[in-house]
Order: sequence, then C-alpha cells, then structure tokens
Amino acid sequence: MASYNALSTTDTETAPPDVTTSPEQLGDELNALPAPPILDRLERFLASTGSGLEVGSSLEAVLREVDAQLAALGAKEAELEARVQARLSALRERLMQWSLQQEMQAMLTSFSFFSVDAALVRSVQFWKWSLNFLARCFADMNERRAFVDGLVAKSLTTLDHIAQTHPDIDFHYRQCGSIVLFFDEAQMARELQHVVPERDQVLTRAETLLLEPSLEHVQFIGAIRHTKDRVGNCREYVAGLARHAAQLGVEFRLSTNATDLRVDNGRVAAVELMDADGVADSLPCDYAVLACGPDSLAPLRSSGWSWLPILPVRGYSITGAARPELDCTPREYVLLDQPLHVIAVRFGDRIRFASHAELTTALEPDEEKLDDLERIARTFFPRAFADGADIEAWMGRRPMTSDSMPILGVGHLPNLILHTGHGADGWRWSHACAELTTALLLGETPDLPLDQLSLERFPFL
Ligand SMILES: Cc1cc2nc3c(=O)[nH]c(=O)nc-3n(C[C@H](O)[C@H](O)[C@H](O)COP(=O)(O)OP(=O)(O)OC[C@H]3O[C@@H](n4cnc5c(N)ncnc54)[C@H](O)[C@@H]3O)c2cc1C
Repeated sequence: MASYNALSTTDTETAPPDVTTSPEQLGDELNALPAPPILDRLERFLASTGSGLEVGSSLEAVLREVDAQLAALGAKEAELEARVQARLSALRERLMQWSLQQEMQAMLTSFSFFSVDAALVRSVQFWKWSLNFLARCFADMNERRAFVDGLVAKSLTTLDHIAQTHPDIDFHYRQCGSIVLFFDEAQMARELQHVVPERDQVLTRAETLLLEPSLEHVQFIGAIRHTKDRVGNCREYVAGLARHAAQLGVEFRLSTNATDLRVDNGRVAAVELMDADGVADSLPCDYAVLACGPDSLAPLRSSGWSWLPILPVRGYSITGAARPELDCTPREYVLLDQPLHVIAVRFGDRIRFASHAELTTALEPDEEKLDDLERIARTFFPRAFADGADIEAWMGRRPMTSDSMPILGVGHLPNLILHTGHGADGWRWSHACAELTTALLLGETPDLPLDQLSLERFPFL
C-alpha cells in the first residue's frame, strides 16, 4: 500500500520500484502494538469463506465495534495506519496464494498501489467498503467482464453517434487505440489471457517503439494495444453537451447543492436546494436522479440512508503545452501499468499525464503527489512539455464503489433513481448508463440486466 511518494527520478529510469511494504520493514516497535480485533476477525472471515462466500451475520456486529476498537488501540495515527496497512498487505499475500480466479488476483494486486489515509482507516465506512470489496472478489468475474464489455460497447456506439452528428462539439475525439505497457512478465502473462484477437494486439518492446518512439526512456518489457479504444477531452465534450441541452430548454443551476429530499407518501416530492449565497429553494419533481458522485449520500440522510458503498479515490493530472514534434509525446493513449499506473495522452497541442489512487477524506490536494507525477512525466517523457510550458494541475475524486462498477437502479423510494459510484470509468460507460436511466424514468424495460449494477449486490449495507 505504498504511495507514489516512494518514487524518485533515478528509480524510475532503471526499473520500476517495488511498492510492497513488507511487515518486517515496519520494525519491532510497531509489531509490538496490539492488533485491532477487527483485523483478526476479518482474517477469520476470509479463512472461513473458502471457495464460496458465507457471510456470517455476526460481521454486522463486528462492524459496529470497529470505531471503538481502533480508537481503543491508542496508537499514534501514523503507526496505526502503517500497522493496518501491513496487516492488509499480509492478508493480500495470503489471498494471492489461494487458487482463486486470476481476475481476483489482479484486483488484489491493483489494490496494492492505493494509498489510504489514517482518518479513513479509523472509520466504519472504510471497513464496510473493504469488506464489500473482498466479498465482491468472490463474484463471478467472467460474468462481470462480459457485462462491462456490453455496457462499454453500448456506450461507445452512442458517443460515436453524437460525435458524428455534432461536429460543433470539438473535443479531440479519435479512435486512436490505447497501449498498455508492462514492466513485469507475470503481470503481462495475466493480461494476455484476456486478449481478444479481433480487438487487441500483443506487441514486443521493439514493435511498440516503432509505433511510439517517445517511449524510448520507459523500461517496459512489452505491451498490449487495444485498437478500438477512443480518446477525447471530457471537459470540452461535457461543455458542448451542456450548450445543446440548454438550447433544448434544460436549466442548469450551478453552485447549488441538493441538500435533502422532501418525501410525501413514500415518494420524492421535491429536492431541497441551497445556492452559494445560502438561499434555499425547493424543486418539485416527478422523479429525482441521484448523481452526486462521492457526495451522493448527503441528500439521502434524512430519508433514511446512512451509508453507501462509495469512497472518494482521488486522482491527479497535469496538462501543458506539448512540443510540436510528434515523436516527443505518445500519439495514442498510453498506460504505464503497475506499479506506476500513469497515463499519458495528447489532446491537440497539449499533453496530459494522470495518476494516483488516493483513498482519503482530505479536501486539499496533496502537493507531493502532483510533484511526483510531474517528476515521473519528465523522467519518462523528457521532451514532452514545450520549453517553459505552464503546467495546469488538477485533482479529481473518483466515486469508487467496492467493486469499481456503478450503482444504477431504483433507490429506496420508487421515484428515486440511483446513478452514482462511477469510479475510474465513468465517462467510458456514461452513455449506456444514461440510456438505462432514461428507460427507468420512462417506465421501460432496460435493454441490459440491472442486477450487476444494483445496490443489493453488496452484502454489507
Ligand atoms: C485523474 C482521473 C482520471 C480519470 N480518467 C478517466 C478516463 O480516462 N475515463 C473514464 O471513463 N473516467 C475517468 N475518470 C473517472 C471519471 O472522472 C468519473 O468516473 C466521473 O467523473 C464520475 O462522474 P459522476 O458524474 O458520477 O461524478 P462526479 O464527476 O464526481 O460528479 C458529481 C457532481 O455532483 C456534484 N454534486 C455533489 N454533491 C452535490 C449536491 N449535494 N448537490 C448538487 N450537486 C452535487 C459535484 O459538484 C459534481 O459536479 C478519471 C478520474 C480521475 C480523477
């Protein structure tokens, strides 16, 4: 669970660093601390699951104890965080040894480059989210993969159509494909199992460099190219869509919060609003669609919900003017896979790098993470940014559910539609999700089964 802070420029020039923190490194002092009972119970729970999932109801009681137990530990926050992360790391290692599905192993491996802050580790929310994460690892991954493929295909068909029929929305959209670079034989071998020949190409390092000469400073061993992937500037696209929607009569109330739902006779009668000047308003409605990303719980509290399986996973990007020569920056969307997990993509005359998966409730961006990202970008792509380019930094919060898939369906009130938890791929499947939501609003049968997206798929609610 190391964060990217461990990276230095010299590390990245030779080989990707090992990001796994071993329990030994944490020292005797930390190991002498008493273990939070929740971790022992979690371990016992995992041991009892075997190949299937048997969730004991006593776990609910365990969760209620979490806060008290962690607080009773009395350790300094940093020590507690390190200890809990070491235990989770050990748990992950043990799970990896089980003969479980490859996909689950991949999920657990990717969990290792998340960084988690101490305040969250102390919260019941985090532990419920984590238990749901582990529980969902036991779900049928092939079924989930097939569903996501269908969702994304449906989404891209609509996006392509809009791009073709609305040339005025200029968002640098192109089907240029994406290239995923691997640093590690085992990881590449795992991904090769999912290659679909009609859509993917397996490339040696030399073949990749022919396509993308700008990758010469990256010490990868090979790559998979997804030929059908698209790239576009999401912000420009959304701004263009909003212009069209406004022309059709849609009213946007910016800087206005939905603070609550007014419920009459078991239905949402109105959404309570508060604008930036503190002026309250009430918007009557036939239906309400909940799409508040990581903050989706806020308007639901008074109508009976205290928790959703969504945590904010922060990511960072830097964007700046690129050198005009095309061999200085990737032409396609390039993902430097684990342990770096950095993407590089060119939009016209600008180049963007994005990375990080930071589970935190903090509000301010972590400047060190932005510095790390810029250092990595400049190490691997030393000629990407134009001389003296202004670097625009951005931090966003991915509304991440415990299994990275959205929550879409009718909520606890019959005219409340949940459309949230879109995680790291919200744009990729956004159009399909919008169409499914429209079907629900119109009382039609959605053309994809919604059980994969229902809130009830999570056993710990
Ligand atoms: C660095 C980074 C890179 C990413 N790259 C990709 C990518 O390449 N492809 C991809 O598909 N996805 C990507 N994502 C993920 C994508 O950004 C998210 O999946 C997407 O933004 C989720 O959309 P959303 O509308 O559900 O939530 P959000 O984008 O979080 O939007 C929620 C909105 O609700 C508003 N809101 C919150 N509370 C209230 C309230 N009470 N009342 C009114 N409004 C409220 C917020 O202000 C916000 O505007 C990336 C994310 C990050 C951080």
